[in-house]
This record gives sequence, structure tokens and C-alpha cells, in this order.
Amino acid sequence: MRKSLLAVAIVAVAACSEAPKPDSKSVQATEVEKAQVAGDQTAPAAQDNPLLSPSTLQYQAPDFGQIKDGHFAPAFEQGMREHLQEIQAIVDNPEPASFNNTIVAMEQSGALLTRVSRIFFNLVGSDSNEARRELQSKLAPQLAAHSDSIYLNADLFARVEKLYNQRVEEELDAESARLLEDVYDNFVKAGAKLSVEQKVTLRALNEEHSKLTTQFSQNLLKLSKDIAVIVDDKSELDGLSESKIKAAAEAAADAGHEGKYLISITNTTRQPVLASLKNRELRQRIWEASAHRGTSGELDNRPLVKRLVQIRAQKAGLLGFDNWAEYQLTGTMAEKPENVLSMLNSMVPAVVKNTKAEQADIQALIEREGGDFDVQPWDWAYYAEKVRQEKYELDESEVREYFEFNRVLNDGLFYTMNRLYGITFKPRPDLPVYHPDVQAFELFDHDGESLAIFYADYFAREGKRGGAWMSSFVGQSELLEQKPVVVNVMNIPKGPEGEATLVSFDHVTTMFHELGHGLHGMLSKVHYPSLAGTAVSRDFVEFPSTFEEDWASHPEVLANYAYHYKTGEAIPDELLAKVLKAKNFNMGFDTLEYMSAALLDMEWHSLPADAEQQDVEAFEAEALAKHGVDLAAVPPRYKSTYFAHSIGGGYSAGYYAYMWSEILAADAFAYLRERGGLTRKNGDLYRKNILEVGNSRAPMESYVKFRGKEPTTDALLVRRGLKPTEG
Ligand SMILES: [Zn+2]
Repeated sequence: MRKSLLAVAIVAVAACSEAPKPDSKSVQATEVEKAQVAGDQTAPAAQDNPLLSPSTLQYQAPDFGQIKDGHFAPAFEQGMREHLQEIQAIVDNPEPASFNNTIVAMEQSGALLTRVSRIFFNLVGSDSNEARRELQSKLAPQLAAHSDSIYLNADLFARVEKLYNQRVEEELDAESARLLEDVYDNFVKAGAKLSVEQKVTLRALNEEHSKLTTQFSQNLLKLSKDIAVIVDDKSELDGLSESKIKAAAEAAADAGHEGKYLISITNTTRQPVLASLKNRELRQRIWEASAHRGTSGELDNRPLVKRLVQIRAQKAGLLGFDNWAEYQLTGTMAEKPENVLSMLNSMVPAVVKNTKAEQADIQALIEREGGDFDVQPWDWAYYAEKVRQEKYELDESEVREYFEFNRVLNDGLFYTMNRLYGITFKPRPDLPVYHPDVQAFELFDHDGESLAIFYADYFAREGKRGGAWMSSFVGQSELLEQKPVVVNVMNIPKGPEGEATLVSFDHVTTMFHELGHGLHGMLSKVHYPSLAGTAVSRDFVEFPSTFEEDWASHPEVLANYAYHYKTGEAIPDELLAKVLKAKNFNMGFDTLEYMSAALLDMEWHSLPADAEQQDVEAFEAEALAKHGVDLAAVPPRYKSTYFAHSIGGGYSAGYYAYMWSEILAADAFAYLRERGGLTRKNGDLYRKNILEVGNSRAPMESYVKFRGKEPTTDALLVRRGLKPTEG
């Protein structure tokens, strides 16, 4: 999610799991002034509400012990009211617009709303309950309306536009100039420059868009029930474990099919169950249920796909862009759709070549087993799993014994960060936390300067949503004299009471990943809050996190932390080699199905405003063939009728961003390895040019300052095992 003016007020979680996000900036002007959070009758008196004033704890770390659920609603209500009053005061200022009395004043506005939003949305994710979820759904439309009331405030925009037009004469420092451009762009993208009639058209498009995306996602939810596959006979389920068969029987009974078995369909084209089912006909049935989702009957999503991409094209046209992809890419690192396409296209030959080699291995196995057919999409996972077992027989529980949680945290993560950046984490058990599993740390620089507060919330528990993420309770800003308070949240299963917690290597890598986001927040050193830390474009935000991942398997780091939790022996070389190789198994397929979906997303959103509605299946086939990614056995990870990221809206023309960030991470890591690897010299170079600057500079400019040149996709292909290591 691209942060903007309102990101100051509305919490943003660094994107981590591959989950669609809600559209952040819809322009639906509702009457915000009337928007009121439903008053909580039992709310404590205002003077007792700890959210209404900044916490007096170090760096405004929230005093969790004092905050009650009843405090949130009144604090949100007052926060929105105060924010609007502050914005009105900027508009009413009789002095001519200046950078200070307008842009800086906007940066300083909304302090209460920011504070309560950050605390609330963090707790809703990591420590949820019924009351919090209920308030969350009430807040969504109110916060959207609040945002609109600022972006569509014509008088406010008049001041911003005046400053923008005279920006050359203003003689602003580079960071201030970037902030001004950023603020101006966000207003323009929201429709601030349109005439009154155009605004009416825009509003109508937005309303239709919002209605249709809701319908699209509701159809997807209903479809997940409708297309579940019912199996009559247990013998057809050969290959599934007894516990999975039992679960399928229970699911069938729940759905009114007593005595049968129900296989539910997950969101992607490929279905996990296909890796173990021996019955080829059943595999085909399941795959077809998945891949033909939303193409017939009452829940046919094709009309929605056609109209949604057309609405976006029309909206882009209205706002002065060639197509929706151009609109969406403004302000990102990629900047233009052609840059995304050339990046993806440059990888196609290597990826297709590897995928074909994987296909040949699978085909050979089919023939060895006496099969007389060409591998089909529903066969791939089943035979790939057999190939994997042949090549890398890996016992996950054996691997975990070398990754004991405390050792991973202290001798792996914290050790690496100390070697690279000279920073140290000191436990702060005196600081309040929101759950007993959470640990608080204070971060110190190499010279002893205190930098930030860090909460480590690593263990799975009820009330926490799935996945892993980083977020901030307090953002860094020199203007606001704030130091960061950051959290990492994960779902590692905790060891039994009194026993060690052993961590899978996947989770170890994710711990490094999330701390990468964490350092992006904690080492930020910018002036303006809306340009700080992870407030970068979504094709850049996963760069600092993915970059840190690779240290988890760096020899010097492993030598410091990967020891057997009982015997203290170092992880055997042979086992380690297997772990690392297994990571890249089937990577041609994985990369190709991702790229196909990303290309499809770009093609749909490259249609011009006056384009006719397209035939969905024909358009898909043509788009994939055009880019040479139309392998029959490897369909896109999502097809249009169930592509929630793209057609659902949140990541429209943005699905490429995951890979873009990984390209930067791989290129940066390879570069530092060439320069001596785990050293302060390397860490400082990276910290100064990437971590400290947040969004205060154009991302490509920052990258080139760090790297000396623009990135290529070579290192990514090596990282994914799709190209041999050079030298
Ligand atoms: Zn991430």
C-alpha cells in the first residue's frame, strides 16, 4: 500500500503475506462531518482515556495496561474531529499558502487519530476479540469518508496546487520538495483537478467499482462453497492421510452429504491436495473445479471482470492517464508499465527453460511408472512431489532440532544485525506489553545512542491472524521529534510448557524477513512522518525484508547459531545442503505460474479507456501467448475470474510488485557478497542509502546510490536456482 498524507493518520502494515489489500483511496465523497463513531454508552469519562494524550513512556510506547476496549471508539471520534478542525484551520489561514503553513501543517495534523489508529489496528491483528472486530467493521467506511473529505477539499487543494506550481521558486530542500510532489500527486490521483461534472462522473465510476468489487469477492466466497468436490467412495481418496480423510468426511457431513467426502477448493489454481491424490480422474475433477471457477451459472464472474477493468480504464482516462496501469504505477519504483513488462519478459527464457526441464523429469517418471499420457496441470504436483522425495528426502523435524528459538533470535538475527549495522537489542522487561508472550527490546546504535523500541511477538495464539508482518506503534520523524516503536508478529508454534521451541527453517527465514521490515522502520532517519521507514511504494517495500532473508543461510551466520538444541553439535553440512537445495525445488513452475498471473494483471490494466469489453477466455489466452508463457501444463496461479489481487482491486496492476522487490533484494545481496559479505562497511552502505532514507528520495535514485547502477534480474534467477551461479 502506498502511503500518503493519510498514512500519517491510518496505520499501514508492511505487506508480507501475499494477501489482497483493500483499495486505499477510493473517491467516494460522503458527508464526513456527519460521520460519527457509534458512541459507546459505557465509555469511561474522557479524562480517564489514556489514548487522548501521548503516552509518557519512552518514545510514546503505548501503556497497554491502561488501555481498555471502550477507550477506542471515543478516541477515534475525537481524533477524526480534531483532524478535520486542524485541516480547516490550514484552509482558513489568512496568510498566503506557504510550505510551512500548509504542507508542514498537514504533516503535523491528525496526531490523535494516528495514535489511536496505530494502536487499534495493531491489536486487531495480533490480539483480537469480538469487541475489536466489531469496531473495526464500523470504522472502515468512516475512515474512508474521512480520507475523502481531505482529498476532495477544493480549498485545501488550491493551496497545495499553488505551492506545487511555484515549487521551483520555493527553494525547498530535497526531502521537502519530494513531500510536496507526493502530496500534490495524491490529490491529483484522487480527482482534485477535475471539473464539477467530471467529479460527478468519477464518483459514479467509483460507486459502481466499489459495488462490483464487493460482488466479485462475495461471489468468490460463495464459490468456495459451491465448487467443493464431493467424493462418494473412500477408495478414491487413496494417498491422503487418515486424518485428512476424516476431515473430508466431517466436512461432507457438515455440508449435508453424510457418508461422503468433501474436498474444498483453495484460492489458487493449483490445489494442495493434488500433491498426494493417486486417483487421476479425481485429480482432474478437482483441478477443473478450481480452474473453471466463476465461468458459468449464477456466480459467473466474467461480466464483472469485463466491466471492472473497463471502469478502471475509464477512470484513468478521466484523470489524464493512458490506462489504469499508468495510473497505478505513478510514484512507484517501476514508474511505467513498460518497465514492468521488460523486467518480466527478460526472465521468460530462463524460467521457461527450467520449467521444461522440470516437466521432462516429471514426464520421465510417469513413463517409468508405465503411464501412457502427457503430464497435465492436475498431474504436476503429484509427480513433482515424488521427484522431490527422490531427490531430497528431508525430515523437517530433524532440521528443526538445529534451530532453537532463543538461539535463532540472539545468535542468528541479533548477531547478524550487530555485524552489519553495529546495533544491539537490549531486553526491556519493564515496558508494558499487550500479551505475556510479547518481549520488549530497546535498540542501541554502535555508539550507544538509543534508537527505537522493538516488540517481538513471535508465537501463534488464538486471536492473532495468520501469517507474519511488521507494523509500527509510533513512526519515526524528526519534525514530530518521534523515535520509532516497532513490532514483528509471527505465528511460530510454541514448544510445550517447559520445553524448547524448535523453529522450522522456513520460519527462521521469515524471522529475518520481518526484522528486515523492522529495521526499515527503526533505522529510518527522515524529517517528515509520511516519508518515514516503510512508507515506500509497494514494489520497494519487500526489498529490505527479502534482503535480510538471505543472511539466515550465510555460512558465517549459520556457524554462529545453527546448533543442535540438545547435543550442541553444529548442523551437518550434508543436511544443510539438502535444506538449501530443497528450497528451490520446482522453482521454474512456481516462478512461471506467478509471472503468468502478473502478466495477465498488467495486460488487463493496459486497456485504453475506449476499449470494448473483452471476451475473458480469449483475452487470457492471447495475453499469455503474447509473452510466451502459455505452457499447457502450467496455468497462471490465478485466472481472471478468481484473481482477487488484480480484479478484486487491491493489487490491480500491482501483482508484479512481489517479484520486483525480490529482484532488488537478490541484486543487493549478491553485490554485498562480492564486497566481503557480513561487514560493517557493507551494512553501513546499505543502511545509509536504503534503510535511513525511507521514501524521502525516489527509490531508483536510492538504489543507484547504494549499488552504483540499476539492478538486473540475474541475481534473482540465481537466487531461485534458475540460473547457475557465476564465477
Ligand atoms: Zn514482507
